[in-house]
Amino acid sequence: MSAALVTGASRGIGRGIALALAHAGFDVVVNFASNLAAAEEVAGEVEKAGAKAALVRADLADAADRARLVAEAYEAFGTIDLLVNNAGVAPARRADILEADEESFDRLIGINLKGPYFLTQQVALRMIEHGTPGRIVTISSMSAYTASVNRGDYCVTKAGLSMMTKLFAARLAEHGITVFEVRPGIIATDMTGPVKERYDRLILDEGVTPIRRWGQPEDVGKAVVAVAQGLFPFSTGQVIDVDGGFHLR
Ligand code: NDP
Repeated sequence: MSAALVTGASRGIGRGIALALAHAGFDVVVNFASNLAAAEEVAGEVEKAGAKAALVRADLADAADRARLVAEAYEAFGTIDLLVNNAGVAPARRADILEADEESFDRLIGINLKGPYFLTQQVALRMIEHGTPGRIVTISSMSAYTASVNRGDYCVTKAGLSMMTKLFAARLAEHGITVFEVRPGIIATDMTGPVKERYDRLILDEGVTPIRRWGQPEDVGKAVVAVAQGLFPFSTGQVIDVDGGFHLR
């Protein structure tokens, strides 16, 4: 059986990806930051789907935690065939870039960009060492290309993930490892909960998402499964938009 490591798998999009992978036959390392109860619920659902789950609490911004996460994933399943860099946080409060503070910037860089960058490095090195080339999928955002001046820190981290995908795709191709960026649009999760009414208007009335509905975590899960199952054998460094057409505007 193949194994996947999904960061931030306790809730939202990560949960949707973990469950889609479990139904597709992958054992899943369910990483989370603090919400043990939610992570246990996901692990239970993974097992109900007939796959194995391993729970690993690890703060992606912390180098020691990242090293332990990789070590525990290999202890649990002996392999990582798929890494999904999903975990991410939005700024605690939106602030115009002329007023933004460094504390929020540092926090977002640590979790959203530095964490996936060095986790990808560590997992890639293990894949090379073990001779088990796999796939790496990073969840970025339409914020990677949309200049939202009231959350510049978030946009910068997501744009950084786009370049990270290209860099690792270019470097790892010779080892048979392929690397993808999945760009979700507006997806119904805890992250978008606080702005639900505004997004309802944007999606349903103004049509910023041309397919006029909220995206669901399962929509992103299905795209990741397509990559994981090898449906793109001659592609790497590719962007897959899962956004109901948001990028067309
Ligand atoms: P949620 O807030 O619903 O879930 C966030 C997940 O990340 C949780 O599992 C959380 O764990 C985990 N997490 C948070 N901080 C850390 C950390 N320091 N280390 C490890 N895990 C952490 O977010 P979404 O599901 O909405 O977002 C998932 C990804 O998709 C993010 O990268 C986000 O930027 C991106 N995205 C989301 C969109 C949306 O519309 N929702 C649109 C485009 C991109 P815990 O439960 O323990 O707190």
